[in-house]
Amino acid sequence: MRAMAESRILQGRTIASKIEAGLQAEIARLPAAPQLRVLYFDSPASRVYWHAQQAAAARLGIRTGAPGNDWKTGSIELPWDTPWTQVERILQAWNADNSVHGIFVHQPMPPQIDAQQVSASIDPRKDVEGIHPENSARRFFARARIGSCTALAVMELIESTGIALEGKEAVVVGHSDIVGRPVSMLLLDKLATTTVCHVGTDRAGQLEAHVRRADVLVVAAGRPHLIKGEWVKPGSIVIDVGINVKDGHVVGDVEFESAKKRAAAITPVPGGVGPVTVMMVMKNTVEAFKQQTGRA
Ligand code: NAP
Repeated sequence: MRAMAESRILQGRTIASKIEAGLQAEIARLPAAPQLRVLYFDSPASRVYWHAQQAAAARLGIRTGAPGNDWKTGSIELPWDTPWTQVERILQAWNADNSVHGIFVHQPMPPQIDAQQVSASIDPRKDVEGIHPENSARRFFARARIGSCTALAVMELIESTGIALEGKEAVVVGHSDIVGRPVSMLLLDKLATTTVCHVGTDRAGQLEAHVRRADVLVVAAGRPHLIKGEWVKPGSIVIDVGINVKDGHVVGDVEFESAKKRAAAITPVPGGVGPVTVMMVMKNTVEAFKQQTGRA
């Protein structure tokens, strides 16, 4: 494949807007507004993410609860030293509340909170991040009821390029429960020949070789500029999930400026995967509402 003079920049906001328009029409047909409850721990990154979720929900008419930082009536920011017992009590109350259709707990979490215990404590029907063990198991068997919001966003971005994934070499860098593993399952479902790289691949000095043959590259390592632009296969599609702060700037896991000279299409950071993930949480909330009210 020849090197592209100009790669297509996959603008997340444009793709998110299209999904939003479809959701708006779907929500207008529902008998009541779905409700999403969000819990996050005091951190600047979570606050930015929550504000983006809140704004999208408000535009769509998805309720996020009353303002005022009271978990009994709405979404909540908790202090960093909140004990697990308090988090568990809130999740149990939201699980039991029929007016709450979706629950989302943000990363990062403080050290006394176990992220896997959090996922397992959310009612799987309300798990709009799509990472409860039951939802992960269903995805494993290609029978997901609620998909992983970030993995779905990655697939939307890939599909927006029009590429037929069957038989393509797909390389995923990162194998976390919330991004790398779910993305690799969805790529397999599309019959892409999927390789999952991780820290062991890097330590073995094999990362560059795998990246060089990727027709579709998805990177979710949380390591700024881990992937060098010159490794990117000319004409490939590059989806950079990473969000890092380097020298006071938000950057991805891929060297964007050099990678964009080789890729056919690439996501920027910020403004690529992030806005689409926010919209997929809204989509999952609508889906959860429909499933819980017998409209699915
Ligand atoms: P994570 O749980 O820390 O997982 C990172 C993964 O990358 C791990 O599987 C790790 O492997 C692997 N890794 C780390 N260093 C590596 C290296 N040098 N070479 C190869 N693999 C390496 O993070 P995550 O939750 O998956 O998130 C990843 C990034 O995506 C973060 O920057 C996060 O902020 C971002 N994110 C963005 C969105 C969005 O909507 N845009 C959503 C979620 C996450 P080991 O486990 O073997 O160490």
